[in-house]
Amino acid sequence: MIEQKKLFEPEKVACEVCLKEIPISEAKNVKATDYIMYYCGLDCYDKWKKQEEQEEQEEQEEKSD
Ligand SMILES: [Zn+2]
Repeated sequence: MIEQKKLFEPEKVACEVCLKEIPISEAKNVKATDYIMYYCGLDCYDKWKKQEEQEEQEEQEEKSD
């Protein structure tokens, strides 16, 4: 038997923050340095952004020590 490919199954991605699976067409995406990150919505994007900013601050504090 030949296995048929599901042609109409929407491609899904996992939200970078809450890891919920969302159709790629509904995902918000942000191009990072070398890859694209996906979010289910602006709430998760905001969370990620705040986290990133905090990490950057922490790194700078470590360097100045
Ligand atoms: Zn999310």
